[in-house]
Amino acid sequence: MSSEYPDTDLHIGGAWTAGSDRQTLPVLNPATGEAIGQCAVATEADLDRALEAAARGFAAWRKVAPFERAKVMRKAADLLRERADGIARVMTLEQGKPVAEARIEALAAADIIDWFAEEGKRAYGRVIPARADGVLQIAVKEPVGPVACFTPWNFPINQAVRKVSAALCTGCSVILKGPEDTPASCAAMIRAFLDAGVPGDVLSLVYGNPAAISGYLIPHPVIRKISFTGSTPVGKELAALAGRHMKRVTMELGGHAPAIVFEDADVEKAVSVLGGSKFRNAGQVCVAPTRFLVHDSVFDRFVDGFTAVAKAVKVGDGLDPSTKMGPLIHSRRLDAMEALVADATAQGATLRTGGKRIGNRGNFFEPTVFTEVPLTARIMNEEPFGPIAAIQRFSSEDEALEEANRLPYGLAAYAYTRSAERATRVAQQVESGMLSINHHGLALPEVPFGGVKDSGYGSEGGSEALEAYLVTKFVTQANF
Ligand code: NAD
Repeated sequence: MSSEYPDTDLHIGGAWTAGSDRQTLPVLNPATGEAIGQCAVATEADLDRALEAAARGFAAWRKVAPFERAKVMRKAADLLRERADGIARVMTLEQGKPVAEARIEALAAADIIDWFAEEGKRAYGRVIPARADGVLQIAVKEPVGPVACFTPWNFPINQAVRKVSAALCTGCSVILKGPEDTPASCAAMIRAFLDAGVPGDVLSLVYGNPAAISGYLIPHPVIRKISFTGSTPVGKELAALAGRHMKRVTMELGGHAPAIVFEDADVEKAVSVLGGSKFRNAGQVCVAPTRFLVHDSVFDRFVDGFTAVAKAVKVGDGLDPSTKMGPLIHSRRLDAMEALVADATAQGATLRTGGKRIGNRGNFFEPTVFTEVPLTARIMNEEPFGPIAAIQRFSSEDEALEEANRLPYGLAAYAYTRSAERATRVAQQVESGMLSINHHGLALPEVPFGGVKDSGYGSEGGSEALEAYLVTKFVTQANF
C-alpha cells in the first residue's frame, strides 16, 4: 500500500465511515497494476442511512438562502485550490493521468463551484400578468429534492463536481455514487465541500456495486432526481428504471465525435489542436475527437502531421513530469483497445502508428492512428474511449456531414474551415449537443454541456444545468 495514497471511506450523515459489513474494494495504480489502497463498499443498510440523511439534509438546506449557500460553496472552491497539488498526486496515482492534467482538473473544479455558487442566486421565477384585477400569478422555482448522482473514473472530480454544484446551489441534497476505480480524489472534492460548511446530511458519498446501488437508489421514494455520466448502454438502463418511477433524469453518455477538416482549413492548426485533444487523458474523454473526416486535397498533409503528433506523445507514469499520456484506467480497457485494433486490421484498415500495448506492467497503450477504415469496423461505430484515432477521407461537404451524422451518438463535433458560410452550414446540420469550430472550446462551467440522440439529455453546464435541479410551482393568489 502507498503511504501517499489514502484509503477511502463512505461519507454518510456527517461521518466518514467504513461500510457496515467492512467490505472493501482494492484500488490499483494503473501505471503499475499494484494495489495502492482500499475503497469502502456500501451495503443496503448504509444506503438507507444515506437516504435518511438526504431527506433530513434537503429539508434543512432548501431553507438556507441562496446567498448563504453561495458563500459556503465559494469557500469549498478556495479549499480545492489550496489543496490542488496534493489532490493531483492522489488522482494520478489512482487514475494515471499526468499530474499537471490532474492539477488542472482540481483547479477547474474550483471554477465550476464558483460559477454555480453565483448562478444559484439567479434561479429566478417569473410574474405572469393576470386576467383579473387583484390576482397575482407567480411561477416559483423550487429545488427538485434529494438527488442520486453516478459518476465515472475518467475525470474523478470534474464529472462529479458539476452535478454536486448544480444540486447544492439550487438547494438539493445529494447522494453521490463515486467511481470505485478512482475513489480518493473524488472524496477529496467532497471533503472540501464538507470542510467549507456544507452540512453532513446534505452530501453523502458512497461506493460499491454500481448496479446494486443504482438499483436501490433510483426507485427509492426519497430520491427525486437522477444524474448519470457513463456509457450509453448503462445510461439507457438507468433512464428506463428512472422512467418507471417517474424520476427526473440527466444523462451524460457516450460519444463518437466527428472532427471534419475541410479543404480550406488551417491544416497545421487542426493537426495540433485535434492531436492534443485526441490523446488527452489517453483518449478516455467523452468529447474526444474520434472520427477524423479529412478532405481529399489535404488528407496526406493531415495524416502525416497527425501521425507525427501521435508518435511524439511521451507515454509513461503520470507522476513523471515529462509524461504527456498516462496509462488506461484498467486492464479491461487494454483488452478493449486490442480488440478494436484486431478488428480494424482484419477488416483491412491501414495502421499508421501504434496498435499495441506498451510493456507488460501497467495499462499503457500506444497512441494509435488508422486510415482507410471500413465503415463496418467496430472502431467506426463504437465509442473507442482510448488513444485510437480513425482518419477517413471525403470529397464533398455533403459526404462529410452524412458520415458525421451517421451514428446514433450526438455529443461533441469539431470542424475546421476558413469559410464562414461553411461554418454556418455545419453548425446548422451537425447533429450534436456541442460543436467547436476552429478551436477546442468545450466544457467551461458557463457554457452548455450535453448531448443529443444516444448521447443523452440535459445539460451539465451553463444556466441550463440549473433547470434540471429545479421544479416550477405555479401560485395564483387573489385579494380577499
Ligand atoms: P462500464 O460500462 O462498466 O462503466 C462505466 C461507468 O458506469 C462506471 O463509472 C461504472 O461505475 C458505471 N456503471 C456501470 N454500470 C452501472 C449501473 N448499473 N449503475 C450505475 N452505474 C453503473 O465501463 P468501464 O469499463 O468502466 O468504462 C468503459 C466505457 O464506459 C467506455 O466505453 C465509455 O463509453 C464509458 N464511459 C463514459 C464516460 C463519460 O464520460 N461519458 C466516462 C467513463 C466511462
